[in-house]
Amino acid sequence: MLRAPLLAAARSQRMRALIEAVPVTRSVVRRFVSGSATADAVRVARELAADGRKITIDHLGEDTTDAAQATATVQAYEELLTALSEQGLAKGADVSVKLSAVGQFLPGDGEDVALENARKICAAAEAVGATVTLDMEDHTTTDSTLGILRELRAEYPWVGAVLQAYLHRTEQDCRELSGPGSRLRLCKGAYAEPESVAFQDKSEVDKSYVRCLRVLMAGQGYPMVASHDPRMIAIAGKLAADAGRTADDHEYQMLYGIRPEEQKRLAGEGKTMRVYVPCGDEWYGYFMRRLAERPANLAFFLRGLVTR
Ligand code: FAD
Repeated sequence: MLRAPLLAAARSQRMRALIEAVPVTRSVVRRFVSGSATADAVRVARELAADGRKITIDHLGEDTTDAAQATATVQAYEELLTALSEQGLAKGADVSVKLSAVGQFLPGDGEDVALENARKICAAAEAVGATVTLDMEDHTTTDSTLGILRELRAEYPWVGAVLQAYLHRTEQDCRELSGPGSRLRLCKGAYAEPESVAFQDKSEVDKSYVRCLRVLMAGQGYPMVASHDPRMIAIAGKLAADAGRTADDHEYQMLYGIRPEEQKRLAGEGKTMRVYVPCGDEWYGYFMRRLAERPANLAFFLRGLVTR
């Protein structure tokens, strides 16, 4: 019931100012975000590597309308990849990039700027043996993001992208994109979307997720199962086994701070488990989407407010 207002608040500058001003917010945010500095993300990457978990790091930021900010985001990724490499953590690592953070929404030539900026991040990743995955934002950006994915893959065939099972179009996108070499991260979807483009009912989203999983597991690419849902994880395991896949040709992914014991269990079983680790100061939108996903997170946050 609170999902829609929380997702609306995720895009409100007035709510952002209010929530960021509350002292307790930061301690709750720390459950989901590794910290402000590159060094925080590197520290978390080392901790996760200790029990066999891989990383994809998101330098937080989105909806940028300032070219200088987009450039700063690219530099932050370059710095992060260099730091991971210096610590011996870059090989097999991944970074997750929101195209709206690197210029997609800039007036005029935003898509071209985002493509150029994403290219720079891909070059930095390739130089240290890491990969890049394009996050997927709201449905108005899907065509643009997949267009940029195609351009990037011409030069960097290992670039991946996220598909959201709540969108009606996604099963077809899975069919079109699951060719040789593709890396597709399937999630349920985290934005407020209208009925005209997205399933609204949780059971419909889950059914779509399974249909998409079937296509990806039977396809020729590398499926990345991004979900904390035990049912989806079990079904993915069965479909992967039916398709003759091994731990080297698909993987599981979860968000930092969510179901860490399950993350360790999957890694301990020899499965490839990657954790999405956000870092940086622009945590507001990301944090609000995590609250919207789970009433218990909101209750935890509100309890913190009243017990201070
Ligand atoms: P749900 O049905 O929402 O949850 C299943 C169970 O997981 C819950 O019962 C609970 O036990 C646990 N859980 C789920 N969410 C939380 C939470 N916030 N806090 C605590 N426990 C929780 N979405 C996008 O729209 N675009 C993206 O690019 C994107 N990238 C993602 C990358 C990764 C690696 C992951 C894991 C998710 C990503 N998402 C993205 C978010 C995703 O769309 C969902 O909103 C989110 O993962 C919750 O869906 P779920 O599959 O875990 O299932």
